[in-house]
Amino acid sequence: MKIQMVDLKGQYEKIKNEVDAGIQNCIDNTAFINGPAVKEFQQDFENYLNVKHVIPCANGTDALQIAMMALELKPGDEIICPAFTYVATAEVMGLLGLKPIMVDVDENTFEIELNGLEKYITPNTKAIVPVHLYGQSADMEKILEFAKKHNLFVIEDNAQAIGSDYTFSDGTIRKSGTIGHIGCTSFFPSKNLGCYGDGGALMTNDDDLALKIRMIANHGQQKKYYHKVLGCNSRLDTIQAAVLKVKLQHLDEYSAARNKMADYYDENLAKISDIQIPERAKNSTHVFHQYTLKVKNGKRDELQKYLGEKNIPSMIYYPLPLYKQEAFQQYVEEGFSLPVTEKLCSEVISLPIHTEFDQEVLDFIISEIKNFFN
Ligand SMILES: *Cc1c(COP(=O)(O)O)cnc(C)c1O
Repeated sequence: MKIQMVDLKGQYEKIKNEVDAGIQNCIDNTAFINGPAVKEFQQDFENYLNVKHVIPCANGTDALQIAMMALELKPGDEIICPAFTYVATAEVMGLLGLKPIMVDVDENTFEIELNGLEKYITPNTKAIVPVHLYGQSADMEKILEFAKKHNLFVIEDNAQAIGSDYTFSDGTIRKSGTIGHIGCTSFFPSKNLGCYGDGGALMTNDDDLALKIRMIANHGQQKKYYHKVLGCNSRLDTIQAAVLKVKLQHLDEYSAARNKMADYYDENLAKISDIQIPERAKNSTHVFHQYTLKVKNGKRDELQKYLGEKNIPSMIYYPLPLYKQEAFQQYVEEGFSLPVTEKLCSEVISLPIHTEFDQEVLDFIISEIKNFFN
């Protein structure tokens, strides 16, 4: 029994015919750059998300950078983001000369903590980047209120929660990533909607922003060889778009399969006193990009070692807060610390989760976790 964090092979085998035909079609047409599949996937994705514009690009990190360029954020501007996230969220700010203002997260939902955020506001604060971590949406209604009050742009980092639904207090339901000014996502293979290489996209309901984003992703040109602004070269490969077109049709089914796995872990692990199973946010559905436990009493690293000896993979997302990364020292004063982020970095562990439910594998993982705590 070979256990994987993500079983992409098992998933591929079920859609092999459709995927292979899509890829072969690109090759037969030699339409490698901006071939028909790119536009087709874009439109399918717009329909799925119920958003006016999807602009495909080369990867999720580029999407974030292009979003910040399109909003004309300037060197010295301050952008609020969680300190408990993947590096890309804040890395692109640094590259553009923007200053990441790293804030704490909620210890149960792992999403950006909104209480006490006011104290970070300065005349230079221009945007907030909530990260929909592990597969559920941050509290977008509150974030929109906060942003409106302080005149901030909202860029959603939705690399981990594609397909999740956020419900507003008036009952309106929107897909995560389509709620702020711009949403960004990644199609990295292991993401919930992953292609077979790199890929990403931006989402927006704003026509002007969509034009600007498209221009920036294409060397700052609308008309070929006439460059209005400095841009970059960030395209979704046609072959990747062909794969995504097929996989998008299965995305809801994949989210359901991930939930089935998460429910099974929940049922079987909830009673272990040293473990806290992931809390589900009240106003968001969960698509379980990661199934992340908190392990109490300093036992996390030992648990990971034990699982490793049994050939059960696990991951620590993330072992180090952003503000402790060497690359980010220029943005914080010495000794800067956020208590929840700090604690989570020492307690979280993510277990294998993907779309291929296998009772035998899950029972083995669960029994070994129980053995460890006995
Ligand atoms: C994966 C990820 C990204 C970056 O996506 P790439 O396609 O790898 O560039 C950004 N933010 C978060 C939260 C991610 O998980």
